[in-house]
Amino acid sequence: MSSAPNSLAARDIAYTVHGYTNLRQHEEQGPLVITGGEGVWVSDDEGKKYLEGLAGLWCSSLGFSEKRLVEAARRQLERMPYTHTFSHRSSEPVIELSEKLVQMAPASVTKAFLMNSGSEANDTAIKLIWYYNNARGKPEKKRIIARRRAYHGITLAAGHLTGLPYARAGFDLPMSDRFFHVTAPSWYREGLPGESEEEFSTRLANEVDTLIRSLGADTVAAFVAEPVMGAGGVVVPPKGYFEKVQAVLKKHDVLFVADEVINGFYRTGNTWGCDTYNIQPDILTCAKQLSASYLPISAVLMSQDFYEVIADFSAKHGNLGMGYTYGGHPVAAAVALETLKIYEEDKTGEHVRAVSPHFQKRLAQLADHPLVGEARGVGLIGAIELVRDKKTREPFEVSAKVAPQVTGRCLAHGLILRPLPGDAVGICPPLIITEAEIDQLFDRLTAALDDVAGVLP
Ligand code: PLP
Repeated sequence: MSSAPNSLAARDIAYTVHGYTNLRQHEEQGPLVITGGEGVWVSDDEGKKYLEGLAGLWCSSLGFSEKRLVEAARRQLERMPYTHTFSHRSSEPVIELSEKLVQMAPASVTKAFLMNSGSEANDTAIKLIWYYNNARGKPEKKRIIARRRAYHGITLAAGHLTGLPYARAGFDLPMSDRFFHVTAPSWYREGLPGESEEEFSTRLANEVDTLIRSLGADTVAAFVAEPVMGAGGVVVPPKGYFEKVQAVLKKHDVLFVADEVINGFYRTGNTWGCDTYNIQPDILTCAKQLSASYLPISAVLMSQDFYEVIADFSAKHGNLGMGYTYGGHPVAAAVALETLKIYEEDKTGEHVRAVSPHFQKRLAQLADHPLVGEARGVGLIGAIELVRDKKTREPFEVSAKVAPQVTGRCLAHGLILRPLPGDAVGICPPLIITEAEIDQLFDRLTAALDDVAGVLP
């Protein structure tokens, strides 16, 4: 970082507050200022190039130089830079995008509601579920079950779904007793000695069943889950997990909300994580790769049954009393629509299915590294979990910050990755990555692991 008094870094320290950052440490360390991008590569203000191995924040699916998205934004900005979707208003990009999303979505989905971020989408889903159960004359049926280690956002309601202590500490959460968390489906960490993967899934589904029974099924509204947990450490579900959990939810009239904010749009090899794991969601939330993150946009997709209930209730109340100024922003919608067209025309799903076996092979090979306890993933997402003892799975002390040391060394080798809870390192490159670039990613990560292994006591 340049420390010149008027440098970008100095001005960043002077004026900018950063989320998920130790603010005091930032005053010492300063920012990594990213100024340019080409394909899966980004460069900083000193001209150093990095392979963006986490696609920004699991989101830059088409990399950093997709001219069609720039053009789509420019066209819409010139034509109509802003209109909203309140009070019966609409715009062409919003109509086309909603139609396209419904066509792409799991069969049960018939309607799309647009907003700006993953947190907003999950918040909206929760509010709509409460509205729905009030409409159905079930005002007690409001409790929501998520999983420990889940990340569903940080706004007040979505923040209650998030099951990671770091997103709660100091923020007076929980504020509500409507949210519950069950065991994360990590067979590696939560499986009992001698327990098979299927047995583990059965135990976790039973845990959901027991919780619903103990709370009273007439008080439980929904279960919220990512098909593959992302920010919680890339937890790939064990065999049979979602089949078993869905059967429990059906029995108790509990809705399934699939958070596809990371999984959605080919990340796991299929259009949705729901396709990969045979999930039939009542509600699906998506964001990030919806617009390749060129502009902020998210959506709540819902089934016709759900829509019918809230539509009747809105008529009774005079309107659906919520919406966002920028929900269905026409420029963001136009960029999202163009993103979906690119996915279709460039056969992005086929590309992911073609290169992901190589990605998964290189990932799996890391399991042989002395620092790696588990290498796990699906499609173009993965993580390695770092351990002191591979045999006993004993973790390093948190204070040793081994995953941040590894991602720090990755930076030195020109690779951006992200440390995750549970001493894991997340890998989630842009979907356009080639096999040669996958090799560069894993070669650099291996070099970083070797560096850290060489200095650990
Ligand atoms: N849901 C999941 C699965 C996420 O990974 C994230 C963000 O990483 C969110 C929701 C929240 O999205 P946002 O940061 O856009 O509010």
